[in-house]
Amino acid sequence: VQDRLGLLKQNTHNTVNSLLDETALALAKKVDAKIESGEEIGLLEGIPFGIKDVYMVQGTYTTASSDLLKKYKSAYTATAIQKLLDAGAIPLVKENCDSFGHGSSSENTIFGAVKNAVNPSLVGGGSSGGSAVNVAKGFTVFSIGGDTGGSIRQPAGYNNVFGFKPTYGRISRFGLMAYASSTDCVGPIAKSTEDIRIVLNAMSGKDVKDQTTYQSSSISKESVLNTDAIKTVGYFKNFINNDAISAEIKADFLASIEKIKAKGIEVKELDFFESDTLVSTYYTLAMAETASNLSRLDGTNYGNRIEGDNLKDTYSITRSENFSEESKRRIVGGNQVLSQGFSDEIYLKGLNLRDQIAANFEKDFKEVDIILSPVTPNLPPKIGDSLKDPLAMYLSDAYTVGFSLGQLPTLTIPKGTATGLQISAAKNNDELVLQFANFLN
Ligand code: GLN
Repeated sequence: VQDRLGLLKQNTHNTVNSLLDETALALAKKVDAKIESGEEIGLLEGIPFGIKDVYMVQGTYTTASSDLLKKYKSAYTATAIQKLLDAGAIPLVKENCDSFGHGSSSENTIFGAVKNAVNPSLVGGGSSGGSAVNVAKGFTVFSIGGDTGGSIRQPAGYNNVFGFKPTYGRISRFGLMAYASSTDCVGPIAKSTEDIRIVLNAMSGKDVKDQTTYQSSSISKESVLNTDAIKTVGYFKNFINNDAISAEIKADFLASIEKIKAKGIEVKELDFFESDTLVSTYYTLAMAETASNLSRLDGTNYGNRIEGDNLKDTYSITRSENFSEESKRRIVGGNQVLSQGFSDEIYLKGLNLRDQIAANFEKDFKEVDIILSPVTPNLPPKIGDSLKDPLAMYLSDAYTVGFSLGQLPTLTIPKGTATGLQISAAKNNDELVLQFANFLN
Protein backbone atom coordinates (compact mmCIF):
# COMPACT_ATOMS: atom_id res chain seq x y z
CA VAL A 1 0.00 0.00 0.00
CA GLN A 2 2.77 2.41 0.94
CA ASP A 3 4.75 1.76 -2.25
CA ARG A 4 1.78 2.22 -4.47
CA LEU A 5 0.73 5.41 -2.67
CA GLY A 6 4.26 6.69 -3.28
CA LEU A 7 3.95 6.02 -7.00
CA LEU A 8 0.48 7.56 -7.17
CA LYS A 9 1.72 10.67 -5.39
CA GLN A 10 4.03 11.38 -8.34
CA ASN A 11 0.96 11.43 -10.58
CA THR A 12 3.07 10.83 -13.68
CA HIS A 13 0.05 10.02 -15.88
CA ASN A 14 -2.52 12.44 -14.41
CA THR A 15 -4.51 9.54 -13.04
CA VAL A 16 -5.05 10.96 -9.55
CA ASN A 17 -7.89 13.28 -8.51
CA SER A 18 -7.41 12.68 -4.80
CA LEU A 19 -5.39 10.27 -2.69
CA LEU A 20 -7.00 8.40 0.17
CA ASP A 21 -3.64 7.93 1.86
CA GLU A 22 -4.62 8.29 5.52
CA THR A 23 -7.49 5.81 5.30
CA ALA A 24 -5.41 3.43 3.20
CA LEU A 25 -2.46 3.38 5.60
CA ALA A 26 -4.73 2.88 8.61
CA LEU A 27 -6.52 -0.02 6.91
CA ALA A 28 -3.22 -1.58 5.84
CA LYS A 29 -1.98 -1.49 9.44
CA LYS A 30 -5.05 -3.41 10.55
CA VAL A 31 -4.47 -6.11 7.95
CA ASP A 32 -0.80 -6.33 8.94
CA ALA A 33 -1.78 -6.84 12.57
CA LYS A 34 -4.21 -9.54 11.56
CA ILE A 35 -1.56 -11.38 9.56
CA GLU A 36 0.97 -11.07 12.39
CA SER A 37 -1.49 -12.55 14.85
CA GLY A 38 -1.83 -15.55 12.56
CA GLU A 39 -5.45 -14.85 11.66
CA GLU A 40 -6.57 -15.97 8.25
CA ILE A 41 -7.37 -13.23 5.77
CA GLY A 42 -9.83 -13.15 2.90
CA LEU A 43 -9.05 -13.02 -0.80
CA LEU A 44 -9.50 -9.27 -1.12
CA GLU A 45 -8.21 -8.31 2.29
CA GLY A 46 -5.35 -5.82 2.02
CA ILE A 47 -5.60 -5.57 -1.77
CA PRO A 48 -5.08 -1.97 -2.92
CA PHE A 49 -7.54 -0.62 -5.46
CA GLY A 50 -8.62 2.55 -7.24
CA ILE A 51 -12.04 4.15 -7.71
CA LYS A 52 -13.17 6.23 -10.67
CA ASP A 53 -14.06 9.65 -9.33
CA VAL A 54 -17.78 9.23 -9.97
CA TYR A 55 -18.42 6.89 -7.01
CA MET A 56 -19.59 8.09 -3.65
CA VAL A 57 -17.19 7.15 -0.88
CA GLN A 58 -18.23 8.81 2.35
CA GLY A 59 -16.01 11.72 3.32
CA THR A 60 -13.97 11.73 0.11
CA TYR A 61 -13.93 14.35 -2.62
CA THR A 62 -16.19 13.11 -5.41
CA THR A 63 -15.66 15.54 -8.24
CA ALA A 64 -16.66 13.72 -11.45
CA SER A 65 -13.56 15.58 -12.72
CA SER A 66 -15.68 18.73 -12.92
CA ASP A 67 -15.48 22.31 -11.70
CA LEU A 68 -19.06 21.95 -10.56
CA LEU A 69 -18.23 19.34 -7.92
CA LYS A 70 -14.58 20.06 -7.31
CA LYS A 71 -15.20 20.75 -3.62
CA TYR A 72 -17.98 18.21 -3.11
CA LYS A 73 -17.51 15.45 -0.52
CA SER A 74 -19.68 12.33 -0.55
CA ALA A 75 -22.20 11.93 2.22
CA TYR A 76 -22.45 8.16 1.80
CA THR A 77 -20.75 5.21 0.11
CA ALA A 78 -21.80 3.44 -3.09
CA THR A 79 -23.06 -0.11 -2.58
CA ALA A 80 -20.43 -1.69 -4.87
CA ILE A 81 -17.59 0.13 -3.13
CA GLN A 82 -19.00 -0.66 0.33
CA LYS A 83 -18.98 -4.35 -0.55
CA LEU A 84 -15.29 -4.17 -1.48
CA LEU A 85 -14.51 -2.32 1.74
CA ASP A 86 -16.43 -4.96 3.68
CA ALA A 87 -14.28 -7.61 1.99
CA GLY A 88 -11.16 -5.79 3.24
CA ALA A 89 -9.90 -4.23 0.00
CA ILE A 90 -8.00 -0.97 0.51
CA PRO A 91 -9.00 2.13 -1.51
CA LEU A 92 -5.99 4.23 -2.53
CA VAL A 93 -7.25 6.83 -4.93
CA LYS A 94 -10.17 8.57 -6.62
CA GLU A 95 -9.26 8.38 -10.28
CA ASN A 96 -9.27 10.89 -13.10
CA CYS A 97 -11.86 10.40 -15.85
CA ASP A 98 -13.89 12.30 -18.39
CA SER A 99 -16.16 14.69 -16.55
CA PHE A 100 -19.46 12.91 -15.64
CA GLY A 101 -18.32 10.05 -17.93
CA HIS A 102 -18.68 12.31 -20.98
CA GLY A 103 -15.90 11.30 -23.32
CA SER A 104 -13.70 8.64 -24.84
CA SER A 105 -10.23 9.96 -24.05
CA SER A 106 -10.09 11.26 -20.45
CA GLU A 107 -9.21 14.70 -21.71
CA ASN A 108 -12.54 16.24 -20.67
CA THR A 109 -11.36 16.79 -17.09
CA ILE A 110 -10.19 19.66 -14.88
CA PHE A 111 -7.28 17.50 -13.67
CA GLY A 112 -5.31 17.35 -16.94
CA ALA A 113 -5.46 14.74 -19.71
CA VAL A 114 -4.75 11.18 -18.58
CA LYS A 115 -1.66 9.79 -20.32
CA ASN A 116 -1.64 6.36 -21.91
CA ALA A 117 0.29 3.71 -19.96
CA VAL A 118 1.99 2.29 -23.05
CA ASN A 119 2.81 5.56 -24.82
CA PRO A 120 2.29 8.72 -22.73
CA SER A 121 1.89 10.96 -25.76
CA LEU A 122 -1.37 9.13 -26.51
CA VAL A 123 -4.66 9.43 -24.62
CA GLY A 124 -5.46 7.13 -21.73
CA GLY A 125 -8.87 6.38 -23.23
CA GLY A 126 -12.15 7.12 -21.58
CA SER A 127 -14.05 7.76 -19.73
CA SER A 128 -12.43 5.50 -17.07
CA GLY A 129 -8.92 6.41 -18.31
CA GLY A 130 -7.29 7.01 -14.92
CA SER A 131 -8.55 3.63 -13.71
CA ALA A 132 -7.18 1.68 -16.69
CA VAL A 133 -3.82 3.45 -16.62
CA ASN A 134 -3.42 2.90 -12.86
CA VAL A 135 -3.94 -0.83 -13.31
CA ALA A 136 -1.66 -1.02 -16.37
CA LYS A 137 1.15 0.82 -14.53
CA GLY A 138 0.71 -1.29 -11.40
CA PHE A 139 -0.32 1.69 -9.26
CA THR A 140 -3.45 -0.24 -8.23
CA VAL A 141 -4.10 -3.98 -8.34
CA PHE A 142 -7.56 -3.36 -9.72
CA SER A 143 -9.75 -0.34 -10.28
CA ILE A 144 -13.49 0.18 -10.42
CA GLY A 145 -14.57 1.98 -13.56
CA GLY A 146 -18.00 2.85 -14.88
CA ASP A 147 -19.26 1.85 -18.32
CA THR A 148 -22.21 3.54 -20.00
CA GLY A 149 -21.16 3.13 -23.62
CA GLY A 150 -17.69 1.62 -23.42
CA SER A 151 -15.91 3.53 -20.68
CA ILE A 152 -14.40 0.46 -19.04
CA ARG A 153 -13.79 -1.61 -22.17
CA GLN A 154 -12.21 1.07 -24.33
CA PRO A 155 -9.58 2.39 -21.89
CA ALA A 156 -8.81 -1.23 -20.92
CA GLY A 157 -8.14 -1.90 -24.61
CA TYR A 158 -6.05 1.26 -25.03
CA ASN A 159 -3.83 0.28 -22.08
CA ASN A 160 -3.58 -3.49 -22.55
CA VAL A 161 -5.51 -4.69 -19.52
CA PHE A 162 -8.79 -6.51 -18.89
CA GLY A 163 -12.01 -4.55 -18.40
CA PHE A 164 -15.44 -6.00 -17.80
CA LYS A 165 -18.90 -4.53 -18.21
CA PRO A 166 -21.21 -7.06 -16.56
CA THR A 167 -24.83 -7.66 -17.50
CA TYR A 168 -26.83 -4.53 -16.65
CA GLY A 169 -28.25 -4.95 -13.15
CA ARG A 170 -25.70 -7.46 -11.89
CA ILE A 171 -24.04 -4.80 -9.74
CA SER A 172 -25.89 -2.02 -7.93
CA ARG A 173 -25.56 1.49 -9.35
CA PHE A 174 -26.48 3.05 -6.02
CA GLY A 175 -23.83 5.71 -5.33
CA LEU A 176 -22.50 5.78 -8.89
CA MET A 177 -23.13 9.26 -10.24
CA ALA A 178 -25.80 8.75 -12.90
CA TYR A 179 -24.86 9.44 -16.51
CA ALA A 180 -27.33 7.45 -18.66
CA SER A 181 -29.17 5.30 -16.16
CA SER A 182 -30.46 2.76 -18.71
CA THR A 183 -26.94 1.63 -19.63
CA ASP A 184 -24.76 2.68 -16.64
CA CYS A 185 -22.79 -0.32 -15.33
CA VAL A 186 -20.26 -0.78 -12.54
CA GLY A 187 -17.30 -2.99 -13.42
CA PRO A 188 -13.69 -3.91 -12.70
CA ILE A 189 -10.46 -3.27 -14.61
CA ALA A 190 -7.65 -5.69 -13.74
CA LYS A 191 -4.68 -7.65 -15.07
CA SER A 192 -6.33 -11.09 -15.30
CA THR A 193 -9.72 -12.74 -15.64
CA GLU A 194 -9.07 -14.30 -12.25
CA ASP A 195 -8.92 -10.87 -10.63
CA ILE A 196 -12.00 -9.76 -12.58
CA ARG A 197 -13.89 -12.80 -11.27
CA ILE A 198 -12.98 -12.18 -7.63
CA VAL A 199 -13.87 -8.48 -7.71
CA LEU A 200 -17.07 -9.15 -9.64
CA ASN A 201 -18.25 -11.74 -7.15
CA ALA A 202 -17.59 -9.36 -4.27
CA MET A 203 -19.63 -6.53 -5.83
CA SER A 204 -22.59 -8.40 -7.37
CA GLY A 205 -26.05 -8.92 -5.95
CA LYS A 206 -29.49 -7.51 -5.46
CA ASP A 207 -29.71 -4.16 -3.74
CA VAL A 208 -32.97 -2.59 -2.55
CA LYS A 209 -31.45 0.79 -3.36
CA ASP A 210 -31.26 -0.06 -7.07
CA GLN A 211 -34.43 -1.71 -8.29
CA THR A 212 -32.79 -2.80 -11.55
CA THR A 213 -30.46 -5.20 -9.73
CA TYR A 214 -30.98 -8.94 -9.68
CA GLN A 215 -29.48 -11.80 -7.72
CA SER A 216 -26.85 -13.58 -9.81
CA SER A 217 -25.03 -16.77 -8.99
CA SER A 218 -21.35 -16.29 -8.27
CA ILE A 219 -18.76 -17.13 -10.87
CA SER A 220 -16.98 -20.33 -10.05
CA LYS A 221 -13.29 -20.48 -9.41
CA GLU A 222 -12.52 -23.06 -12.04
CA SER A 223 -14.23 -21.07 -14.77
CA VAL A 224 -12.92 -23.47 -17.37
CA LEU A 225 -14.80 -23.61 -20.61
CA ASN A 226 -16.77 -26.71 -21.31
CA THR A 227 -16.21 -26.72 -25.07
CA ASP A 228 -19.51 -28.51 -25.49
CA ALA A 229 -21.15 -25.30 -24.28
CA ILE A 230 -19.66 -23.39 -27.21
CA LYS A 231 -20.64 -24.49 -30.64
CA THR A 232 -20.55 -21.28 -32.57
CA VAL A 233 -18.94 -17.90 -32.33
CA GLY A 234 -20.17 -14.96 -34.37
CA TYR A 235 -18.89 -11.57 -35.44
CA PHE A 236 -20.47 -8.61 -37.22
CA LYS A 237 -19.04 -8.49 -40.69
CA ASN A 238 -19.76 -4.77 -41.14
CA PHE A 239 -17.52 -4.05 -38.11
CA ILE A 240 -14.58 -5.57 -40.01
CA ASN A 241 -15.31 -4.76 -43.64
CA ASN A 242 -15.41 -0.97 -43.73
CA ASP A 243 -13.10 1.95 -44.52
CA ALA A 244 -12.94 3.31 -40.98
CA ILE A 245 -11.22 0.39 -39.25
CA SER A 246 -7.43 0.57 -38.80
CA ALA A 247 -5.55 -2.08 -40.80
CA GLU A 248 -3.74 -3.21 -37.66
CA ILE A 249 -6.94 -3.77 -35.70
CA LYS A 250 -8.56 -5.61 -38.58
CA ALA A 251 -5.55 -7.93 -39.07
CA ASP A 252 -5.38 -8.64 -35.37
CA PHE A 253 -9.09 -9.42 -35.18
CA LEU A 254 -8.98 -11.77 -38.16
CA ALA A 255 -5.99 -13.55 -36.61
CA SER A 256 -8.10 -14.18 -33.48
CA ILE A 257 -10.87 -15.59 -35.67
CA GLU A 258 -8.42 -17.98 -37.33
CA LYS A 259 -7.19 -19.08 -33.92
CA ILE A 260 -10.73 -19.89 -32.84
CA LYS A 261 -11.45 -21.84 -36.01
CA ALA A 262 -8.24 -23.80 -35.44
CA LYS A 263 -9.67 -24.87 -32.09
CA GLY A 264 -12.53 -26.51 -33.96
CA ILE A 265 -15.19 -23.88 -33.23
CA GLU A 266 -17.51 -22.79 -36.00
CA VAL A 267 -17.38 -19.07 -36.77
CA LYS A 268 -20.37 -17.28 -38.31
CA GLU A 269 -20.53 -13.87 -39.93
CA LEU A 270 -23.52 -11.85 -38.71
CA ASP A 271 -25.38 -8.83 -40.03
CA PHE A 272 -25.72 -5.85 -37.74
CA PHE A 273 -26.72 -2.19 -37.67
CA GLU A 274 -24.32 0.31 -39.23
CA SER A 275 -21.96 2.25 -36.99
CA ASP A 276 -23.78 5.51 -37.70
CA THR A 277 -27.06 4.05 -36.47
CA LEU A 278 -25.49 2.55 -33.35
CA VAL A 279 -23.67 5.74 -32.45
CA SER A 280 -26.62 8.05 -33.10
CA THR A 281 -29.03 5.81 -31.17
CA TYR A 282 -26.67 5.64 -28.21
CA TYR A 283 -25.89 9.36 -28.16
CA THR A 284 -29.56 10.33 -28.52
CA LEU A 285 -30.49 8.29 -25.45
CA ALA A 286 -27.32 9.03 -23.47
CA MET A 287 -27.69 12.78 -24.01
CA ALA A 288 -31.39 12.71 -23.10
CA GLU A 289 -30.71 10.78 -19.92
CA THR A 290 -27.73 12.86 -18.88
CA ALA A 291 -29.65 16.12 -19.46
CA SER A 292 -32.27 14.78 -17.08
CA ASN A 293 -29.85 13.33 -14.53
CA LEU A 294 -27.64 16.41 -14.37
CA SER A 295 -30.54 18.83 -13.96
CA ARG A 296 -30.16 18.44 -10.20
CA LEU A 297 -26.73 20.06 -10.35
CA ASP A 298 -27.83 23.68 -10.10
CA GLY A 299 -25.75 24.84 -7.16
CA THR A 300 -28.64 24.61 -4.67
CA ASN A 301 -27.99 21.31 -2.96
CA TYR A 302 -24.59 20.50 -4.33
CA GLY A 303 -21.77 22.05 -6.13
CA ASN A 304 -19.91 25.18 -6.74
CA ARG A 305 -22.71 27.77 -6.54
CA ILE A 306 -22.13 31.06 -8.28
CA GLU A 307 -24.61 33.72 -7.13
CA GLY A 308 -26.52 35.69 -9.73
CA ASP A 309 -29.02 38.56 -9.31
CA ASN A 310 -31.91 36.13 -8.91
CA LEU A 311 -32.50 32.39 -8.64
CA LYS A 312 -32.72 31.84 -12.38
CA ASP A 313 -29.45 33.67 -12.94
CA THR A 314 -27.82 31.67 -10.18
CA TYR A 315 -28.80 28.42 -11.89
CA SER A 316 -27.72 29.66 -15.24
CA ILE A 317 -24.35 31.10 -14.19
CA THR A 318 -23.55 28.11 -11.95
CA ARG A 319 -24.20 25.68 -14.77
CA SER A 320 -22.67 27.73 -17.59
CA GLU A 321 -19.46 28.39 -15.72
CA ASN A 322 -18.99 24.97 -14.15
CA PHE A 323 -19.92 22.40 -16.79
CA SER A 324 -17.33 21.61 -19.46
CA GLU A 325 -17.99 22.36 -23.13
CA GLU A 326 -18.53 18.65 -23.80
CA SER A 327 -21.02 18.26 -20.94
CA LYS A 328 -22.89 21.38 -22.06
CA ARG A 329 -23.06 20.02 -25.61
CA ARG A 330 -24.72 16.90 -24.25
CA ILE A 331 -27.11 18.71 -21.91
CA VAL A 332 -28.24 21.02 -24.70
CA GLY A 333 -28.50 18.11 -27.15
CA GLY A 334 -30.38 16.00 -24.63
CA ASN A 335 -32.87 18.74 -23.79
CA GLN A 336 -33.43 19.30 -27.46
CA VAL A 337 -34.26 15.66 -28.25
CA LEU A 338 -36.62 15.59 -25.24
CA SER A 339 -38.44 18.79 -26.07
CA GLN A 340 -41.83 19.14 -27.66
CA GLY A 341 -41.65 18.95 -31.41
CA PHE A 342 -38.49 16.85 -31.33
CA SER A 343 -39.16 14.06 -28.89
CA ASP A 344 -41.42 12.02 -31.18
CA GLU A 345 -39.12 12.53 -34.10
CA ILE A 346 -35.82 11.86 -32.31
CA TYR A 347 -36.08 10.50 -28.76
CA LEU A 348 -38.88 7.99 -29.41
CA LYS A 349 -37.12 6.88 -32.55
CA GLY A 350 -34.01 6.29 -30.44
CA LEU A 351 -35.98 4.15 -27.98
CA ASN A 352 -37.44 2.19 -30.85
CA LEU A 353 -34.01 1.57 -32.40
CA ARG A 354 -32.67 0.47 -29.03
CA ASP A 355 -35.42 -2.18 -28.90
CA GLN A 356 -34.55 -3.30 -32.41
CA ILE A 357 -30.86 -3.57 -31.49
CA ALA A 358 -31.70 -5.63 -28.39
CA ALA A 359 -34.01 -7.86 -30.45
CA ASN A 360 -31.25 -8.35 -33.00
CA PHE A 361 -28.92 -9.58 -30.24
CA GLU A 362 -31.59 -11.96 -28.96
CA LYS A 363 -31.98 -13.41 -32.41
CA ASP A 364 -28.20 -13.74 -32.86
CA PHE A 365 -27.75 -15.48 -29.53
CA LYS A 366 -30.11 -18.19 -30.71
CA GLU A 367 -27.54 -18.98 -33.38
CA VAL A 368 -24.22 -18.23 -31.69
CA ASP A 369 -22.96 -18.52 -28.10
CA ILE A 370 -20.42 -15.73 -28.18
CA ILE A 371 -20.08 -12.56 -30.24
CA LEU A 372 -16.60 -11.15 -30.82
CA SER A 373 -15.69 -7.66 -31.88
CA PRO A 374 -12.73 -5.31 -31.88
CA VAL A 375 -13.04 -2.76 -29.07
CA THR A 376 -12.53 0.26 -31.31
CA PRO A 377 -12.09 0.92 -35.03
CA ASN A 378 -9.09 3.16 -34.30
CA LEU A 379 -5.81 3.11 -32.38
CA PRO A 380 -5.56 5.55 -29.42
CA PRO A 381 -5.22 9.14 -30.69
CA LYS A 382 -2.56 11.65 -29.64
CA ILE A 383 -3.45 13.82 -26.67
CA GLY A 384 -5.25 16.92 -28.01
CA ASP A 385 -6.60 15.39 -31.21
CA SER A 386 -10.04 14.14 -30.08
CA LEU A 387 -10.94 17.50 -28.57
CA LYS A 388 -10.83 19.04 -32.03
CA ASP A 389 -13.56 16.81 -33.45
CA PRO A 390 -16.34 15.64 -31.10
CA LEU A 391 -18.16 13.79 -33.85
CA ALA A 392 -15.08 11.71 -34.68
CA MET A 393 -14.78 10.93 -30.97
CA TYR A 394 -18.41 9.75 -30.85
CA LEU A 395 -17.78 7.54 -33.89
CA SER A 396 -14.80 5.91 -32.17
CA ASP A 397 -17.39 4.36 -29.80
CA ALA A 398 -19.00 2.46 -32.69
CA TYR A 399 -18.10 -1.04 -31.46
CA THR A 400 -18.80 -0.63 -27.75
CA VAL A 401 -22.16 1.16 -27.62
CA GLY A 402 -24.24 -1.63 -29.20
CA PHE A 403 -23.39 -4.05 -26.39
CA SER A 404 -24.36 -1.33 -23.90
CA LEU A 405 -27.75 -0.79 -25.53
CA GLY A 406 -28.24 -4.57 -25.42
CA GLN A 407 -27.27 -4.54 -21.69
CA LEU A 408 -24.97 -7.51 -22.37
CA PRO A 409 -21.98 -8.81 -20.42
CA THR A 410 -18.92 -7.75 -22.42
CA LEU A 411 -15.22 -8.11 -21.66
CA THR A 412 -12.15 -6.52 -23.18
CA ILE A 413 -9.09 -8.74 -23.28
CA PRO A 414 -5.76 -7.13 -24.17
CA LYS A 415 -4.28 -7.76 -27.60
CA GLY A 416 -0.67 -6.57 -27.85
CA THR A 417 -0.50 -3.58 -30.14
CA ALA A 418 -4.15 -3.45 -31.20
CA THR A 419 -6.88 -2.11 -28.92
CA GLY A 420 -8.18 -5.40 -27.56
CA LEU A 421 -10.83 -7.97 -28.31
CA GLN A 422 -14.39 -7.74 -26.99
CA ILE A 423 -16.14 -10.93 -25.94
CA SER A 424 -19.88 -10.78 -25.41
CA ALA A 425 -22.66 -13.26 -24.61
CA ALA A 426 -26.38 -13.22 -23.93
CA LYS A 427 -27.67 -11.42 -20.81
CA ASN A 428 -26.67 -13.05 -17.57
CA ASN A 429 -24.00 -15.25 -19.21
CA ASP A 430 -21.17 -13.33 -17.55
CA GLU A 431 -19.44 -16.55 -16.55
CA LEU A 432 -19.41 -17.82 -20.12
CA VAL A 433 -17.68 -14.63 -21.25
CA LEU A 434 -14.92 -15.08 -18.66
CA GLN A 435 -14.57 -18.76 -19.49
CA PHE A 436 -14.23 -18.00 -23.17
CA ALA A 437 -11.49 -15.45 -22.40
CA ASN A 438 -9.54 -18.10 -20.49
CA PHE A 439 -10.03 -20.54 -23.33
CA LEU A 440 -8.56 -18.07 -25.85
CA ASN A 441 -5.47 -17.28 -23.81
N1 GLN B 1 -17.57 7.49 -24.76
C1 GLN B 1 -18.93 7.25 -24.43
C2 GLN B 1 -19.59 8.54 -24.08
O1 GLN B 1 -18.95 9.52 -24.05
C3 GLN B 1 -19.03 6.28 -23.29
C4 GLN B 1 -18.76 6.91 -21.99
C5 GLN B 1 -19.08 6.02 -20.81
O2 GLN B 1 -19.26 4.80 -20.96
N2 GLN B 1 -19.20 6.65 -19.65
O3 GLN B 1 -20.75 8.58 -23.83
